[in-house]
Amino acid sequence: MSNGLKERYAQIAPALPVEGSFEYKIPSSLIAGAQPGKRALVPFGNQKITGYILNIYDQPQLDPSRLKPVLEIIDQEPLFFPEQIPMFKFCADYYQCPLGEVLKTALPPGINVSARRIVKITELGKDASLLLSKKAKKLLWVIAQLEELPKDKISDFIEEPVSDSLLNQLAKKGLLEIIDTIEPAKTKPRTELSIKLKRLPSKEEQLYLAHRAKEQARLMNFLKSADSALISELREQFKNPLGLAKSLERRGLVKIEEVIYERKPFSLELIPFSEPASLSREQNQALTEIQKRILENRHRVFLLQGVTGSGKTEVYIQSAKLVLSRGRTVLILVPEIALTPQLLHRFRSRFPDQRIAVLHSGLSSGERFDQWWQIRRGEVSMVIGARSAIFAPLKNLGLIVVDEEQDSAYKQESGVRYQARDLAVYRANQENAVVVLGSATPSLESAYNAELGRYQLLELRERIDSRPLPEVQILDLRKELEKLNFERSATQMPDSELNPEKFLPLESIISEPLALALKENFRRGNQTIIFLNRRGFSPALLCLDCGNRFICPNCSVALTFHQKPTVQKGSSFYGEAPKKSYLLCHHCGYHIPAPDFCPQCLSARIKDFGIGTEQVEEEIKKLLPLAKIARMDRDTMAGRKAYFELIQKMESREIDLLIGTQMVAKGHDLPGVTLVAALLADQSLNLPDFRSGERTFQILTQVAGRSGRGDLPGKVIIQSFNPEHYSIQSALQHDFKGFYEQEMALRKAFGYPPYTRCALIRASGLKKESVAESAQLLGRIARQIKRQKIFVPIRILGPAPAPIFKLRNRVRFQVLVFAPEPALLGKFLRQIKNKFEARPSQSVRLEVDRDPVSLL
Ligand SMILES: [Zn+2]
Ligand SMILES: [Zn+2]
Repeated sequence: MSNGLKERYAQIAPALPVEGSFEYKIPSSLIAGAQPGKRALVPFGNQKITGYILNIYDQPQLDPSRLKPVLEIIDQEPLFFPEQIPMFKFCADYYQCPLGEVLKTALPPGINVSARRIVKITELGKDASLLLSKKAKKLLWVIAQLEELPKDKISDFIEEPVSDSLLNQLAKKGLLEIIDTIEPAKTKPRTELSIKLKRLPSKEEQLYLAHRAKEQARLMNFLKSADSALISELREQFKNPLGLAKSLERRGLVKIEEVIYERKPFSLELIPFSEPASLSREQNQALTEIQKRILENRHRVFLLQGVTGSGKTEVYIQSAKLVLSRGRTVLILVPEIALTPQLLHRFRSRFPDQRIAVLHSGLSSGERFDQWWQIRRGEVSMVIGARSAIFAPLKNLGLIVVDEEQDSAYKQESGVRYQARDLAVYRANQENAVVVLGSATPSLESAYNAELGRYQLLELRERIDSRPLPEVQILDLRKELEKLNFERSATQMPDSELNPEKFLPLESIISEPLALALKENFRRGNQTIIFLNRRGFSPALLCLDCGNRFICPNCSVALTFHQKPTVQKGSSFYGEAPKKSYLLCHHCGYHIPAPDFCPQCLSARIKDFGIGTEQVEEEIKKLLPLAKIARMDRDTMAGRKAYFELIQKMESREIDLLIGTQMVAKGHDLPGVTLVAALLADQSLNLPDFRSGERTFQILTQVAGRSGRGDLPGKVIIQSFNPEHYSIQSALQHDFKGFYEQEMALRKAFGYPPYTRCALIRASGLKKESVAESAQLLGRIARQIKRQKIFVPIRILGPAPAPIFKLRNRVRFQVLVFAPEPALLGKFLRQIKNKFEARPSQSVRLEVDRDPVSLL
């Protein structure tokens, strides 16, 4: 401290899969630039890595002589605010992942590409004649020739794979250095050249230009009226605007500047301002309760449960208005923004004077980067976005709305497996904000929280303008089978595939009463939606002679038969789309041409079983040859533009009948739709997942909700093999409460969430034997830890093979853990992880998924 500057210290989270944060010394030369929320280059082991500064302080927690120094401060401005750090820490702790990984997830992707790992030869390494393997010597020799190499290029030069552990070993011996270098982020603000008028020309100059430089004179005249212009805009009227501008700049008449050009994530079409709708009595009551809390500046979670078409959006909008008028900011989360163009449109039309940012994965990384920086600089007051927008750096947050809070899209299914809805509640609590969770069919978790009084329930039982809920009719598909005198086929179909639907002939997927209703609705000039949650032509292909099924070689699931190559750019294919009918894996994208004969017995008797959206489309075309029919599924929808166009065509009545997967169930408001049909309502009931009943109820209620939203009353037809199931019966009667009571009784009896908290621990790897072995070990470790007294209330299921045993070539086993409360579960999981990770083998990956949404 010779220069009188006080030493300062920092907690830094490495941007690596390493738990926790570490203390560093900040050299006096860097103190001025250091700030929480910025990234720094720091030594870590024998590497130099990027880390995030969490905290800066005067009193070191460890012996300062042993602390390593910060090497460089990377950012000019902080990337996040100190207020956000508690949520990041909670997220890391709860979902059991490194803090650096959480921060990486929270920041827009373009920001993170700053570090590039380089391997550099040391002096010692240059004349290494030590006892090294042949490969190590070759490696050192190659690097010595080039001095340094990017780590990801090493294998190319050596012409064989080089493992991290070999590099680390050599680094430990001081023969190599592994360094993270800083490269400018890939995504930068886009700039453009602009020309600006500096002064008007004198008389002499004017005369000179008019005679000797006519084009320059013309540009000056243009600028006199416009003051400034982008060079790119001038290209239409001038041949070489930049050259002209430069000449004028030399005369001191204009100035050329670089200006930041903002990429616009939505089209620039003008959206007309729309008037607030008048509220129903129920909407008013709900709004009053929310407004009360907003005025008190106090945290509260509301569960706004409103039947489809009851006007939840209007309640969101008017709540947001109040929050904004008090100078606070608003965050609106939607499941998939690309699927909700109408909601975005409504918000923009109601807040014409507010700057709204949009954040979702459908934006280019440049667009996302710009939007994110606008939020970070405090230039916007409202953010509408999908899951990851929960991390948006909004300051002074007053309200978070989570629309369709039950939607599984709020759960991230890889990396940091967070649930955005739950983080919204945590964040709002930290920042004294109000949360509104909106849904027609709340998740049982949220409904249970409302029952316990943790959340305040607000109900909208009526549709706006007192429109009736659609009339629902159920058709028993078993009768269709009887009519056909159904006999089980003689094929050796495995028992697990014994699903009556697989034997249902195509002619009967549209039962007679449904066919009549479809014809009638078309004749009246009304629109229809047909829902079947399975794309492709049919879900399975079978050899009738040897029983061979066509299974994906990478995943243990049947390949789906697709008849027409309707695939477009942006769909799930890798490589080129096939030209004729084909078999496709819906999990990994593997595809082959549809075979003409069985590869096992060479029989040509190959038959497809079950029905997908393609087949329905074909069938409907035969039934209603004059109707204009469209299909909405992942094969026909390449990106949000195609989707948006199709919704617009539905709005303008250019389409009579829309067939689709669950995409059609999302919250569109299509007043012309008066008939909705769900072809196989029990499809989702057969999944080996304790939430299958809940999902079935939710999807049927949502699909049904698309009917009768305009002036004409709506009708819904549900076909099912299982019509007496309570999930279907409750959907039939629009009865959430009835469903809730029955389902909760089951959950209680089996000890499932929401009565308990659940975690799924999955072991996966390429070799079946080693994964099975690790899974057994995992089970033993779990049961051993459970012997501790505090863990008595914990329940362990498994290890067992995952329902989808093989996925993308990885074999999977899983253990399910249930605990009465989250903290105990967290403690238990941490102990398992620590013990398991101490084992030698690295070929098996362990993933912990808390509050898992998918158990497959
Ligand atoms: Zn065969
Ligand atoms: Zn596959």
